[in-house]
Amino acid sequence: MVLEGPRTMRQWEFDIPTILEDDALLKVEMTGVCGSDPGIYNGKAFKAPRPYPIIMGHEIIGHIEEIGEKFAARNGLQVGDRVIVEYAFGCGQCSSCLTGHYVTCDKHYNYGSMISCKNPPHLFGAYGAYVYLHPRAMVHKISPAISAEAGVLICAVLGNALRWLRHKGGISIGETVVILGPGQQGLAAVIIARQAGAGQIIVAGMSKDRRRLELARRYGAHHVVDVEKEDLSAVVRDITHGRMADVAMDVTGSAGGARALFDLVRQQGRIILPGLYGANKEIPIALDKIVTKELTVLGVFSQDMSSVIPAIRLAEEGLYPLEEMVTHRFPMAEAERAVQIAGGEFPEEDPIKVVLVP
Ligand SMILES: [Zn+2]
Ligand SMILES: [Zn+2]
Repeated sequence: MVLEGPRTMRQWEFDIPTILEDDALLKVEMTGVCGSDPGIYNGKAFKAPRPYPIIMGHEIIGHIEEIGEKFAARNGLQVGDRVIVEYAFGCGQCSSCLTGHYVTCDKHYNYGSMISCKNPPHLFGAYGAYVYLHPRAMVHKISPAISAEAGVLICAVLGNALRWLRHKGGISIGETVVILGPGQQGLAAVIIARQAGAGQIIVAGMSKDRRRLELARRYGAHHVVDVEKEDLSAVVRDITHGRMADVAMDVTGSAGGARALFDLVRQQGRIILPGLYGANKEIPIALDKIVTKELTVLGVFSQDMSSVIPAIRLAEEGLYPLEEMVTHRFPMAEAERAVQIAGGEFPEEDPIKVVLVP
C-alpha cells in the first residue's frame, strides 16, 4: 500500500527486488501501525514533506524469503528464519551514524517513512507483502514460539520504552515513576518500569481510557488515576509522602500532558519526553521550574539495537501478555482505514494497537 501524498493511499504492484550477496528479502508476517503513522499519513509529521510516494510500515515481523551470502553470514540468518526489523538502519556515513546513533541519521534512512518507493528496490516499508532488507538493516532473529502480535511490539513498543525509561531515564529499584497516557507506549513503559524494579508505578489516563488503565494494572502498575475524576498531583504527593516522583514521562501527545510533568517530579527529578507535539508548536512552560528544581529533561526518540536485544529477551520470557495490547487487526489492503482508526478518526473503535496482516 503506497502513500502517494497526504491522506492518499493506493495499492501498487512492484517487481520483487533482485537480491544480491549483501541484502535480503523479508516476507511480512505482521506489521504494526505505529502511533506516528497517522501523522505520516496526514502529512503533518515533523519530517514533512515526505518523499512521496512511500510505503509506510516500520513495525515489522516476518520471515527471510531470500538472502545474500554476506548478509546471511553477517547476521547469522538463513531462509525461513523469523525476524524483527528495527525502524532505522542509517546511511552509515553521516556523523550520527558513525557515532552509533543511526536512529538520528542525517539522511533519515528508516523504514516506512523517509525513503521513496519510486526507484528499485522500492520496498522500504512493511505495508505490503515483502520488505527489502538493506545491507545495514537491523535484523534480529526471534523465537517461533512468540506470537506475531507480541513479536511486532518488540522493537518499537517494548524496545522504545526500554530505551526511554531504562537507558535514557535510568529508572531503578524503588523509584516512583509517573506515566501520563496509557496507550501502547505508556503500557510498555509500565512493563519496563516494573522490570527495572520501580517501587511505585502510577499511570494516568482519562475516563475513556478505562480499558487501557485496567491493562496497565495487569502489566504491573501500582496505581491508575483517572485525571477527570482525581487530582493527579495530589495522588502523587500522597503516594510519595510529599516528595513527588523520581521520573515522569508524557506519552499523551498533548501539551497539557507535557506541561503537567514539571509539577509531578521531585527536586532533581527526571522528565522524559518521547511524544511529538507538532513540528512548529510552542508549548509554554515556566522554565524556572527546571532551574530551581534542577530537573533533567530528556528528549528521547525511537529504539536502537541496545534496547531491542533485551526487549527480545523480555518478550521471549513471556512474563507479560503483550498481545493483549492488540485490539484491531486488518488485512493489508485495508491499511488506510487501519491508519485512520489508529489516528482516532473513529473514536468508537477505541484502539490500543492496530496491526496489519498480508
Ligand atoms: Zn514508530
Ligand atoms: Zn546516517
